[in-house]
Amino acid sequence: MTGDRVAAPDTAAPAAPPGDAPGTGAGTGAGAGAANCTGPADDDLSVWPHSTTRLSDGDLAVGGVPLTEIADRFGTPAYLLDEAEVRGRCRTYVQAFPDTDVLYAAKAFLCRAMAHWVGEEGLGLDVCSAGELELAVTTGFPASRIVLHGNAKSPEDLRAALRLGVGRIVIDSASEIARLAAAVPPGSRQKVLVRVVPGIAAGGHSKIQTGTEDQKFGLCITDGSAQHAIARILDQPGLELVGLHCHLGSQITAEKPFLCAVRRLVGLMARIKDHHGITLPELDLGGGHGIAYHPDEHSLDIPSLARKVRAELTESCAAAGLAVPHLVVEPGRAIAGPAGVALYHVLSVKRTGDRTFVAVDGGMSDNPRPALYGVRYLPRLIGRRSTAAPAPMTVVGRHCEAGDVLAADTALPSDIRPGDLLAVPVAGAYHLSMASGYNLVGRPPVVAVAGGHARLLVRRESLEDFRNRDVGL
Ligand SMILES: *Cc1c(COP(=O)(O)O)cnc(C)c1O
Repeated sequence: MTGDRVAAPDTAAPAAPPGDAPGTGAGTGAGAGAANCTGPADDDLSVWPHSTTRLSDGDLAVGGVPLTEIADRFGTPAYLLDEAEVRGRCRTYVQAFPDTDVLYAAKAFLCRAMAHWVGEEGLGLDVCSAGELELAVTTGFPASRIVLHGNAKSPEDLRAALRLGVGRIVIDSASEIARLAAAVPPGSRQKVLVRVVPGIAAGGHSKIQTGTEDQKFGLCITDGSAQHAIARILDQPGLELVGLHCHLGSQITAEKPFLCAVRRLVGLMARIKDHHGITLPELDLGGGHGIAYHPDEHSLDIPSLARKVRAELTESCAAAGLAVPHLVVEPGRAIAGPAGVALYHVLSVKRTGDRTFVAVDGGMSDNPRPALYGVRYLPRLIGRRSTAAPAPMTVVGRHCEAGDVLAADTALPSDIRPGDLLAVPVAGAYHLSMASGYNLVGRPPVVAVAGGHARLLVRRESLEDFRNRDVGL
């Protein structure tokens, strides 16, 4: 994780890192692109990676590589990741949050290159399984910069964390305390945080709200279970309590919930000081920073969030007579999401009643988000210029479920036909990390683009892979 693989100038972050300057698309979302847009709505590239350029024949290039070239070379479905976009987003966080540990939440998307990039940009890593942990550590990510969390860590997760020496383990339940303490080798101490539930409803969908009291994560402040757990941790000589952790949910586009969380966690820190006479040195606010999937949505402005969180933390601590703890944030989606693009070929076009279904060669096995949360994407025709009038289409996947819908009533040229190439922006987070083997379609490859070059990061899952795992008869 040293600087021996310094990015070439053309792969470095754009001059203004995404989100740095107001109105640069990724930072403040919709506004900028929409304002510049002179063409039809589908010509708005504000949710695409910063490096995206229009080519003459209806193609787009990302990271200097035409999307049609990627489809030709790697087949479809395929995912590409714009390395400069990932790095630029890391830099936005590092600059916006000085004196803060920024951990990339690996569950959004992890491969060895991703771990490498975020590590080189100075971020730590937030993992939630032995698998994510081992992948990162075996690729050279320093374990001391890794935090393990999870509402139900397996014995294997805890063993791996202790063996590899992770920096922090986030305790999520009372039963975990004795289990972890018993696994810590005698004479050593493991630094831990406690995940508390601040009782705040925030997030893009009820299934991704994790700061409320009626869900499985963390220990409640209001019923005293957080305080009880803290007392028990302080009794364990093998555990060193260094701070409080919370994670409100995902796809949060307002600043207020984070400021409210700061106040509640500082309040609890003050009570811990009163009861136990200790000042916890760390406060981990989790992630959940929302991004724009459509040009008319807006993303959380990271520099603004950072300023307000810092101000709230300073003020709340002063009011409570506490030393200001070291801040930690854990963005996942906001680092990886906008850096990814999914590519599909159209396999069939079917008109039933007044609907037109455009079926592509991927779907819920590479992107389960529409089926899970009902979200809708904005696919775009790539590689040929159509003069046909746009018409509302429903873009569906190839899987055996009616809910396998990528986009509903989205405008596409009315002459769309099998063999056409569709590209879907904002595909970098919670697609492939949640991908499945459904219908044995095989998970798509991941291709990095940077400086006009494309390179394979993760190869396509093949029939051979399925056969290799299937060992009985
Ligand atoms: C999922 C998760 C994150 C990242 O969430 P994003 O919405 O991707 O930013 C951070 N911390 C914890 C504990 C999480 O579970």
